[in-house]
Amino acid sequence: MVDFALRRRGVLADLQAGGLSLREVCDADVYLQRAAGFHGNSTETVCPVCRKENLTEVSWVFGDDLGSASGSARSDEELEQLALTHDEFTVHVVEVCRSCSWNHLVLSYELGLPEGSGKRVRRAARELRRRS
Ligand SMILES: [Zn+2]
Repeated sequence: MVDFALRRRGVLADLQAGGLSLREVCDADVYLQRAAGFHGNSTETVCPVCRKENLTEVSWVFGDDLGSASGSARSDEELEQLALTHDEFTVHVVEVCRSCSWNHLVLSYELGLPEGSGKRVRRAARELRRRS
């Protein structure tokens, strides 16, 4: 169990003390920024680095049963859908500042069905669609 909040405070303290440079912590790439625009949820938290705007949270999914969807950013509705049709997968929530590119992992949790159920559920859904 990792305390992400503690690690976040550590990074911010290092930044303030000069142990880390802005370039090292504000390194959200184009892909992450684009995901924040498309799938992000805006938060009430002001960016701790530039204080220019509120942070956006992006959820990334990782799991074998997700196939090509593994490693992509997903909206809340898509997460719900994936959770109903796929075996357990991990969601990483990353906060991003669209102004200065600060980004940090804030939360990680598991979603989805018990191992082996995803395939069965998806097959049944296909079957239903085929009949209707
Ligand atoms: Zn910022």
